[in-house]
Amino acid sequence: MYDIAIIGAGPAGGSAALFSARANKKTVFFDSDQGVTRRALLRNHYGIAEIGGPDLVEVGQRQATEAGAELVRSKVVDVQKNGDTFTVKTEDGTFEARYVILATGLWADLAESIGVTTKPATEPRIKTIVEVDAQGRTNIPGIWAAGTIAGTSVHTIITAGDGARVAINLISEINGERYVDHDVLPAK
Ligand SMILES: Cc1cc2nc3c(=O)[nH]c(=O)nc-3n(C[C@H](O)[C@H](O)[C@H](O)COP(=O)(O)OP(=O)(O)OC[C@H]3O[C@@H](n4cnc5c(N)ncnc54)[C@H](O)[C@@H]3O)c2cc1C
Repeated sequence: MYDIAIIGAGPAGGSAALFSARANKKTVFFDSDQGVTRRALLRNHYGIAEIGGPDLVEVGQRQATEAGAELVRSKVVDVQKNGDTFTVKTEDGTFEARYVILATGLWADLAESIGVTTKPATEPRIKTIVEVDAQGRTNIPGIWAAGTIAGTSVHTIITAGDGARVAINLISEINGERYVDHDVLPAK
């Protein structure tokens, strides 16, 4: 049983997976190779002078897996609620999780098919997004959403930040107190 299953492994999903794993939540994240970031060249991501989208995604995914998250390269085709947990079904297998974060980028088909409320998007070139509250919760208790699919501005610094923000909100809810993840330089 995973604590958190994250559907999507672009900047939003990968960043959510990194924070979730570092918070010692058993984490799985899924990549169907449909992410748009792999086509980008980033020159506006704070702290990085220039990076290709494929490199940003691969470095981020590696950070998350090295922190303990499990990356599954498969398309999620269904999410079913069974009482307090979820069965996440991919084209190749099934996974049980207590919470789900949708981070599917431009793809709203899965959200629509599992009964998550969607609405028309307002950001350029995005059609449909998931309706979320200020924390990132959808209409289905236990399913949260982050990044482009949750209506953020379509920039990697923002989608990655939103994945972290929503993961921190979910971790805080699970833990029953606000969560913070800081490393500190050793004293000189
Ligand atoms: C050509 C181009 C140039 C760009 N240039 C810039 C730029 O210069 N600067 C900038 O800041 N931004 C740029 N962007 C935008 C940026 O890439 C996105 O706004 C942002 O990174 C999206 O992040 P995301 O994680 O929300 O979505 P994505 O990166 O699209 O990731 C979505 C993830 O969900 C997965 N997924 C979807 N459905 C499923 C499913 N059913 N099962 C499993 N996995 C699923 C995908 O495989 C992927 O891993 C550019 C985009 C494009 C297309």
